Order: sequence, then C-alpha cells, then structure tokens
Amino acid sequence: MTDYPRPPFPPQAQPVPGSQQQMQPQPDCGERSYTGSGRLANKIALITGADSGIGRAVAIAFAREGADVAIAYLDEHEDARETARWVEAAGRQCLLLPGDLAQQSVCQDVVERTVAQFGRIDVLVNNAAYQMTYYELEDISDEEWLKTFDINITAIFRLCKAALPHMAPGSSIINTSSINSDTPKPTLLAYATTKGAIANFSAGLAQLLGKRGIRVNSVAPGPIWTPLIVSTMPEEQVSHFGENTPLGRPGQPVEVAPIYVLLASDEASYISGTRYGVTGGKPIL
Ligand code: NAD
Ligand code: MG
Repeated sequence: MTDYPRPPFPPQAQPVPGSQQQMQPQPDCGERSYTGSGRLANKIALITGADSGIGRAVAIAFAREGADVAIAYLDEHEDARETARWVEAAGRQCLLLPGDLAQQSVCQDVVERTVAQFGRIDVLVNNAAYQMTYYELEDISDEEWLKTFDINITAIFRLCKAALPHMAPGSSIINTSSINSDTPKPTLLAYATTKGAIANFSAGLAQLLGKRGIRVNSVAPGPIWTPLIVSTMPEEQVSHFGENTPLGRPGQPVEVAPIYVLLASDEASYISGTRYGVTGGKPIL
C-alpha cells in the first residue's frame, strides 16, 4: 500500500502518444520488481501498445514467465527498445513492430511478421489505444471519432481475425478495456464508448470461439500511471490522477500485469467471457 507514488504529481504534459522516459515519477512496469515462475513457458505472445505502460509491464511479465513476445506500437522507438531490453534480459526473444494499427494493412502485417518469426500465436493481447480530452460534444470532429474507433476497437477486430488461423486450441485473447466501459468519463466520450465496445466484443467473441478452444477475456483497469495519461489529460487532472480511488493513488502498470499472466496461462483454462477489474477499489458493474 505504501510502495508506490501518491498524488499530487509534478505538472507535466506531452504530445500524443507520450514518452515513458520523460514521465515523473517513472512508472513501474516491473523492470525491477516482477518475478516470474514459468507459468507461460515457451508460449508466443503478440502484445499491442507494449512499448510503454501496461503493455510493457505485460511484456516483461510474460517474458519472465517464459514467453517470447512480439510488441506492436505506434512510433515510440526508444520506449520500445527499452521494453525489448528487459524481455531479452529475461532470456526471451522480442520482435518490435512499429506502425499505425488504424490501418488494416498494418494489423495484417504485425500478425504475419509475428508468425514469420515465431511460427504461431498462443496469446494475443490487444492493448493499444488512443484517447483525448474534450469538454463539449461539438468539439469532437467526425475524423476524431472515427480515428478513436479505428485504433481502439476496429483494430482489435482486424487483429483477432488475422491471428485466428495461427491460434491453436488452448490459445487466449486478452483485450484491454477500462473502468470507462461501464462508468464513462464524459470528457473521454469517444474513448469510453470504444472501451464499452471492447468489453462487449470480448464477451461475444468468447462465445464464438469456445468451440475452437480459444478463450477471450477483457481487463478493465482503473487509473494507471502511464504515458497515455500525461499525453491526453489536462495538467491539473494529471497532478491528482488516481486520488479519488479508495486506495488514494493510481495503480502502476506492474500491478495490472498479473491478471494478464493469469488469463494467458493454462491455469485459466475455464476462464473465458469475463471482464476483470483492476481499479484500486472502485467497483465495476
Ligand atoms: P500507453 O500510452 O503506455 O500505451 C498505449 C500504447 O498504444 C502506446 O504506447 C502506443 O504505442 C499505442 N498506440 C496508440 N495509438 C496507436 C496506433 N494508432 N497504432 C499502434 N499503436 C498505437 O498507455 P496505457 O495506459 O498503458 O494503455 C494501455 C491500455 O490500457 C489502453 O488500451 C488503455 O485504454 C488502457 N487503459 C489505461 C488506463 C490508464 O489509466 N492508463 C485505464 C484503463 C485502461
Ligand atoms: Mg507508448
């Protein structure tokens, strides 16, 4: 309860998609804290948005549990190299896949390159996302709305479809939703709507893929200290981020990763169609 930083945080703002290197305090993605125990031995995982934040913590945890990982991300090459460094330090391979997942061809390409390198996909973690703060409905342009949907939900549909032929029975799909999926923050209207869609899509897809032995779940984090926050929220919200949770602070990415490890592992063989909250005490509906 006392290990991690509490608000107020220093004022800071960054352009989208944000650089983890430049955050104060630095997020904890498990670089020096996550201990693995072989729970994902020799699995192959494709994780989107894994240069930084929750995705990086998942990549590090998966590697320390024995998985090789491919990580897709937009263009934060330095953050991505840092993730790769930790994956390789765990004795596992890391394939870096930059590109804009709003494009169908990029979704197809990241799957094809992962399969070319590793031969199959055992775990698909759809975690990349975009959000921006808007105070009025009229401030959200049509392009902005569609962009948010393309990155956050349409890419997930495309990645699942592209990956499926390479996923054997026993494989797992994990989609990052949000506490916004049922308690939407009004200033993140388009984002919150996509997060509701991700939770719903995951629950439906789990039912479609059950007969193929593939499990699908979503994770609904509360406030987590990542570049997404400092690059899309006003400075006063960043300073007090996570203060209104029962635990009084934002979560660190490393505190979210264990749920992804469980959902990816064979221990979760009967867990499918569910949304897991990691919210610092706020109930999800
Ligand atoms: P993050 O910024 O570290 O990760 C998001 C990543 O998405 C970025 O690193 C970026 O490379 C990638 N991305 C963005 N646009 C892209 C595009 N067009 N093409 C390819 N990649 C793109 O932030 P995070 O908070 O770790 O976000 C990870 C997930 O967690 C997201 O789905 C986010 O919605 C979800 N989430 C975060 C919070 C939070 O408080 N941080 C809360 C709930 C849910
Ligand atoms: Mg990033």
